[in-house]
Amino acid sequence: GPQGQDDLLAGLNPQQLEAVTYRGPALLIVAGAGSGKTSVLTRRIASLLRSREAWPSQILAITFTNKAAGEMRERVEGLIGDAARGMWISTFHSACVRILRREAQQFGFTKSFTIYDSGDSRALIKRLVKEHEADAFGLTPASVQSRISKLKNELSDAESYARQANMSDPAERIFVEVFADYQRQLQKANAFDFDDLIGQTVYLFRAFPEVADTYRRRFRHILVDEYQDTNHAQYALIHELTRPLASSSAPDPYASNGMMIFEPEPEPKNADTAGASLTVVGDSDQSIYAFRGADIRNISEFERDFPGARVVLLEQNYRSTQNILSAANAVIGNNFDRKEKKLWSDRGEGDKIIGFTGYSQHDEAQFVADEVEALHRAGMPYSEMAVFYRTNSQSRALEEIFIRSAVPYKIMGGTKFYERAEIKDALAYLVAVANPADEMAVRRILNKPRRGIGDVTETAIARFAEEQGITFRDALSMPAQLGFGPKIQAAIAQLDAVLTEATAIMLPPTGEVPAPTTVADGLSLLLAKSGYLDALRASRDPQDEARVENLDEFVAVARDFARNNPEGTIVDFLTDVALVADADDLDDESGTVSLMTMHTAKGLEYDAVFVTGVEEDLIPHRISAGEPGGPQEERRLFYVGITRARKRLHLSLAMTRAQFGEVTVAMPSRFLQEIPVALIDWRQSPGDVNSRGGMQSRALNARRAGGFGGSGSGSGSGDRFGVKPLPGRDSLKPLSTAMDRFPNRVTAKVRDNGDLELTAGDRIRHVDFGEGRVDTVTGEGAKRIAHVRFDTAGQKKLLIKVAPIEKI
Ligand code: ATP
Ligand code: MG
Repeated sequence: GPQGQDDLLAGLNPQQLEAVTYRGPALLIVAGAGSGKTSVLTRRIASLLRSREAWPSQILAITFTNKAAGEMRERVEGLIGDAARGMWISTFHSACVRILRREAQQFGFTKSFTIYDSGDSRALIKRLVKEHEADAFGLTPASVQSRISKLKNELSDAESYARQANMSDPAERIFVEVFADYQRQLQKANAFDFDDLIGQTVYLFRAFPEVADTYRRRFRHILVDEYQDTNHAQYALIHELTRPLASSSAPDPYASNGMMIFEPEPEPKNADTAGASLTVVGDSDQSIYAFRGADIRNISEFERDFPGARVVLLEQNYRSTQNILSAANAVIGNNFDRKEKKLWSDRGEGDKIIGFTGYSQHDEAQFVADEVEALHRAGMPYSEMAVFYRTNSQSRALEEIFIRSAVPYKIMGGTKFYERAEIKDALAYLVAVANPADEMAVRRILNKPRRGIGDVTETAIARFAEEQGITFRDALSMPAQLGFGPKIQAAIAQLDAVLTEATAIMLPPTGEVPAPTTVADGLSLLLAKSGYLDALRASRDPQDEARVENLDEFVAVARDFARNNPEGTIVDFLTDVALVADADDLDDESGTVSLMTMHTAKGLEYDAVFVTGVEEDLIPHRISAGEPGGPQEERRLFYVGITRARKRLHLSLAMTRAQFGEVTVAMPSRFLQEIPVALIDWRQSPGDVNSRGGMQSRALNARRAGGFGGSGSGSGSGDRFGVKPLPGRDSLKPLSTAMDRFPNRVTAKVRDNGDLELTAGDRIRHVDFGEGRVDTVTGEGAKRIAHVRFDTAGQKKLLIKVAPIEKI
């Protein structure tokens, strides 16, 4: 191996060693979860730098989140020190933004362009759907947005789509019109949407080969993590960057300015491989973004696309104990069309997987909270624990119980800080300064706070701007010519003055360097002088108090940004904010449990993992049933979830789940049955819950018979109350019997206590709470609630329809 790299290569297994030290045009590392793919990529970068085969500036590494990028950068710097500065380690989106900021003027944008997140583009599409009256053809903003996004991921634009669409279909014609108009509006606003960031960079490279060559010369080593989740546009981008130079005779700027101090690489034999060297790592079993256009074929066809590519397989898992790994292997083994992988671990068998079935999602959440506390008492830091769920809405029950149990937690990707109205308003103020062409942003703040500027005025300003051939923003600078009354005129003049003042601070004339705190100062100024903060403070709505706090927090974010980026401009700040991804939490508190969706969990690892809601219709999610390949993708997602765990894995579910305003009976996920029985230790199994009484058993039998009948209000046998109370998590039931009782794929509506007549004064018996007296009954029909005073368990509210109760 290369010299002076012993520390870099220490501890690597032979396959990993090869992956780090192989030198050639193309390298594909395929391996299952936790086998060191990301680690190998990191060491490979360090090795290239240490051996001086590459300058930091010649490296482009692509990770899936900004957080992953930050970690990779830190590790490389940890391995080789400051010499690593200047590398591009970022997501596809961030890398493209950097390229576009430099090159945007080549094709009609300025470098201060705005980035539209999906909410922004939805708002624009909504407006266009209305203007084109596209709803008359059954087009909704959501459907138009997702179709446009899919097409862009395929590098298709309105024009090329129109060529192969059935244009005699009026709905198709109108879709193409909206798509084309959307693109025109983006261009006019000097804005790119998320998909454009990639697609327009590809376009730029194809349309301006000399621009592409600059980057081809620069990036000699391109490394991509999580390659299985690249979509066609990202794939094309990689292809463009690794192509041989368009003008091979052009002078090499790095050679001429002394950057390239090493032996030039030997003349490549095959012209096709003369581009940058490309390393990709991935695991087709972890491909979970097909719905966003990710294409597994990018991996399977790598060898075809890059002839002569070396392929390295990693088989040892360093993350998880064998029990966890065996469960993962068993589950993913049920997917067809995949290459068999033999992933093994020498971390020892470890603890068994812990299973738990609760009555409700609250009960399930309580189990998670209790277990978290127990692990914490045993010495595991909160930061080493994570709770996963399939859908964001599942986090609410967890949060409630965590708050009540005082478990410190943070929600990753779910905070949606930047989606709050007041933060969006503050951002719009900043955008109005940074990119005055962005009409949507300027319109957004026009009447925020209330200035008495209504729709009519707004439309009149827009018309004036159009007639004069100026921007909406510029029109605000001529209040007198707009023809409004004095009040409105004054309001517009005031807004214009605030924006102008902020612009002078944040975007000083060329040559003048803005002070490092300008973004935060400018933001404070905008919020204060626009009257925005005063309006919130004067409000009696208690929510407005929270909004003031959120804005304070936002100003603090801006100050942090200034601290970390002393030369950062307002445009850099807006870029950072726009690219915050799901896994990039706002503040990285170390002493908290992380809550996130399974999608967000990709690439991460924790000592203890809780996968919750392991139920049919959640995982696999019911929307996947109709999608081609949907259930297989869900299985991969579950595989991603369980392979995050190092030592402890918990799988939990709830028998009933209140969702979408109704309570449904849940069924254990089919994936649970794919895990060998001996690997799970059920604290409370689905069987326990069902064996509690004739009522549930009969209901279950009815379900197995294919239906769900019976009132269920019949008397239970006495022994059903002999079962340990619910919080007793030590009831161990052999899994085989527990699982045998469960039909695989039956979904039923609520267990129906519908006929159970309860009135004040009735005595009832509850499975967990014992006997009690009904105080009152409130609500109607399926939502009838019994307020019960239990003899020992205190006062409870029970949803009569589903509560495990009977009249005595
Ligand atoms: P995923 O598929 O989930 O992204 P991965 O293949 O990228 O996983 P890594 O995250 O790189 O795997 O590594 C998993 C864990 O194993 C990390 O904690 C890493 O530090 C450790 N690891 C990797 N290789 C070795 C090794 N040779 N010796 C010891 N630990 C290792
Ligand atoms: Mg990884």
